[in-house]
Amino acid sequence: MPDTSFIKETFEFLHNNPETAFKEHKTTAFIAERLKEWGFELRQAEGMTGLAGILDSGKPGITFGIRADIDALPFEVEGKAVAYHACGHDAHTTMALAAAKTLSEEGLPKGRLMMVFEPAEEVGAGAKAMLEAGLLEGLDELVAFHIRPAEDVPFGKATPRLYFTASSQLGFKLTGKVAHGARPHLGINAVDAGVLAVNGINAIKGNPAIGHSVKVTRFVSMGSGINSIPGEVELGFDLRCQDDTEMERLRESVKRAVKAAAEAVGCTVEITRDGLTRAGEYDEGLANDARAVIAEVLGEENVVESYRTPGGEDFNEIGYQLGCKTCYMGLGTGAAPGLHLYGMQFNHDALPIGADVLVRLARKRLSA
Ligand SMILES: [Zn+2]
Ligand SMILES: [Zn+2]
Repeated sequence: MPDTSFIKETFEFLHNNPETAFKEHKTTAFIAERLKEWGFELRQAEGMTGLAGILDSGKPGITFGIRADIDALPFEVEGKAVAYHACGHDAHTTMALAAAKTLSEEGLPKGRLMMVFEPAEEVGAGAKAMLEAGLLEGLDELVAFHIRPAEDVPFGKATPRLYFTASSQLGFKLTGKVAHGARPHLGINAVDAGVLAVNGINAIKGNPAIGHSVKVTRFVSMGSGINSIPGEVELGFDLRCQDDTEMERLRESVKRAVKAAAEAVGCTVEITRDGLTRAGEYDEGLANDARAVIAEVLGEENVVESYRTPGGEDFNEIGYQLGCKTCYMGLGTGAAPGLHLYGMQFNHDALPIGADVLVRLARKRLSA
């Protein structure tokens, strides 16, 4: 069983020291100190927060990974900027550390255990940064847990398959030519191009069998008076889709529509933002083992077979780039009033449950 006093102390430290994306210095130092003490070999990138740690059994076998995200979210409270763990990444880090402690004390059956502590998940950049720095090389399998609010997965239950939705944000700058309002023929009206682009994008037809949405989220024209022909417009679009291939098609359609609209009016186009997190697919064998372990810990009646959230996660980038097997689990914690809300609280009795699932799953996969 996981060490409950260790869990309590660890959570208290992490919860009381929230740090936002790429500023997780205290958090990283705290994790590094513990992993080193337990015999893990550390992998860190110069000048970057987050880290991976590897424990080698010395016996041939796979490299099994447990990933936790470590960043908090920024808020403004009574006019002051504060960080707060509103997405439960303090819980994820606590469970992962507790699992690493137990597994290092017990010894691994075979292979290697890689603990992945990812920075900057909330800005969708941490997984890519760790991959780019080569910190995750050699991973064969990777699992993660996210705490869930009660309406998703109630406290006392868990799901072996928490599916995320692919999410993409596309930004464009359209540049035309400013002119006097009295001489529109001498200018190139960037707002006209923007309007055409939005109408073009609203005409995109996604596959109705696959949940998706495409919408304009930014339309800004600056730098010219109301009696001038506007020379510049900034557009932003948010796309969500349950399938990665369909998402690629939607992204191409948006880019084509903006380009065509700009061309129709005579503007030039610059892509100012091109962000994507993937929906991902989980390995059947790994997810089935996760299911079996959840049933062992919580009872067959408390397995939620799968849950699909409209939220995005950059975890899936790791499986996509490395080609390793992945599985993402969701843990019922009664989180309220909801994730990403300042003051979010959850039932701490979920922490040893999550740690126990991680330990058993690692043991199972590293014994095979
Ligand atoms: Zn979040
Ligand atoms: Zn989160």
